[in-house]
This record gives sequence, structure tokens and C-alpha cells, in this order.
Amino acid sequence: MTLSFPASRTNAYTGSPLDRAGHHREDADWIVAALASPDTLFAPVWRARSLMRGVEQGRPEGVLLGGEAAQGLREAGGPWAFLGLWEQKPVFGIDVSHEDAPPVPANAGSFTDLRAVAGLLPANEASVLAHARGMMHWRVKHRFCGICGTAMEPRSAGNAMSCPGCKAQHFPRTDPAVIMLVVRGDHCLLGHSVRFPQKMYSTLAGFVEPGESLEEAVRREVMEESGVDVGRVIYHSSQPWPFPSSIMLGFHAEGLSEDITIDPEELQDARWFSRADLRNHEALGFGLPRADSIARRLIEDWLNA
Ligand SMILES: [Zn+2]
Repeated sequence: MTLSFPASRTNAYTGSPLDRAGHHREDADWIVAALASPDTLFAPVWRARSLMRGVEQGRPEGVLLGGEAAQGLREAGGPWAFLGLWEQKPVFGIDVSHEDAPPVPANAGSFTDLRAVAGLLPANEASVLAHARGMMHWRVKHRFCGICGTAMEPRSAGNAMSCPGCKAQHFPRTDPAVIMLVVRGDHCLLGHSVRFPQKMYSTLAGFVEPGESLEEAVRREVMEESGVDVGRVIYHSSQPWPFPSSIMLGFHAEGLSEDITIDPEELQDARWFSRADLRNHEALGFGLPRADSIARRLIEDWLNA
């Protein structure tokens, strides 16, 4: 199994322009001044959607609001978090889901599901919006202490939560998921899930469980979903996946067996495809994952190895 990894390419939702500037999180005076400053930019999240313009024209751009345009966000009083500095300007994520209508100027844009348009957004904007969405999801879903049930208070400029009852500290979660292209000779294993668009075949994937290494998770998921035995596992790259709170860890894996037994709960079909099959997939009548997905990169890098 050989692998060449073109280092110049990066996965979607990576390449953030933000300096996370973690030292500012503990400087309450600096944070208060930044929240009030007209130079500060806010990335609003409303019911898991991000503010964009140009969506209907097929050229979406992420919108961060500053100055007067951000006044409604400040006054809405939703959870917020300091995300970092973009060319020295403070950037905050703020959630305004409790408002029936998002408190932004009428001409600011529309709230859109990032996942639906991410491939069309400039990479740096997609990364910032993903960061804001992931942080705000955690803030909105973790309001009470999981130990004693007390309402928690934000600290570290919204990047952590503290329980006034039992003093426990809670931090944002990122759930690891493995995604892998299983390769055997000139063939690779792809599956079709009921959740996929019609006739689309993609890499297998699943969540890492407690007490399991990444390599073990790869082998278990492939065995469970396809019945194929996996030997060596080689790390490829990772991709933030804040939908709502995962990171995708990509691997190439060596198939040791060929017979396929699918798990019908997870997959409708799984097959071995040759490189020629994949290069001719349109003529053969099946689709591959989106160009901006890590699944597609795992496939393309094997095709081009
Ligand atoms: Zn507690």
C-alpha cells in the first residue's frame, strides 16, 4: 500500500485565519472592551445556521458583523465566545437562537446551513463559520452541570463553563470519528448508505468508542459494516466536522479479506471498485462524495498514488 499525500491541499473547514489568542480569554477587562468596540466582528449563529450573503446567486460569502450592524446581536443577550483575532480584530461567536427573528440588519444576508454550501465558500470563511457554529452548539447544549445539575456560568471568554454548585469545569467537546478507505490490490471498498444521495458510494466511517485506539476503531467499523478484515492502518489527514461536534480522522487501511457481508442497518450495499471503475464512475452510473469532503480526498489520493 503506497500513499503520496500532496501537502499543498487542505481539507474543508481548515485554514482558519484566526489567531485564537488564548491569553486574552482570561483577561476580563480586555474582553469587555472588545465586546463594546466598533472594530470587533461577530459571527452570529441562529438555530445552527450561519449568516451569509450571495447564497441565492450560488456565490455564498460568510458575513461577520461589526460596528452599528452588530448592536442587535450585543443586545440580544445570547451565549457568546471569543474565537480569536482576524488581522488584529477581535472575533466573537454569538448565538441568537432564542430570538424569533435574528437581530441583524435586514440587508445583512440570510441564515443558511453551512453544511449545505461549504464547498462554495472561501476556505477561510468556512473555517471561521464552522468554529463559531461548533462553539455555539456546545454553549447552547451544555447549560447545566452534568454532575450536579446546577446552571453553569461561562468562563474563559465563553470557551469553558464553570459549575457554581460543585465547582466542576466543563470544556467544549470534540467527538472523534474515523473515516477510512479500505484498499486491497487495485480495488477499494466503498459503501452506499440509506442516508446518501441516490447511487452515491463513499468511504466507511464511524465514531470512536471509549477505550479504543483509532486503529481499532477503523478495524471494528469496517468489520461491522462490511465484514472485511483490516490489517495495516495509515493516517492520512483530519477535518473539523462541527455538525454538531466531530472531527473526522481520515485513514487508508489494508483489506485482508474480500468477502463482503453488509450490516443492513448501516449500508444498503458495499462493493470493491477498481481504479478504472472510479475514474469512469459517471459512465458507470454512480456518484462519489463531494469534492470538498475528506472522503473524496481519501479516494483521490489513492487513485493518484
Ligand atoms: Zn456541578
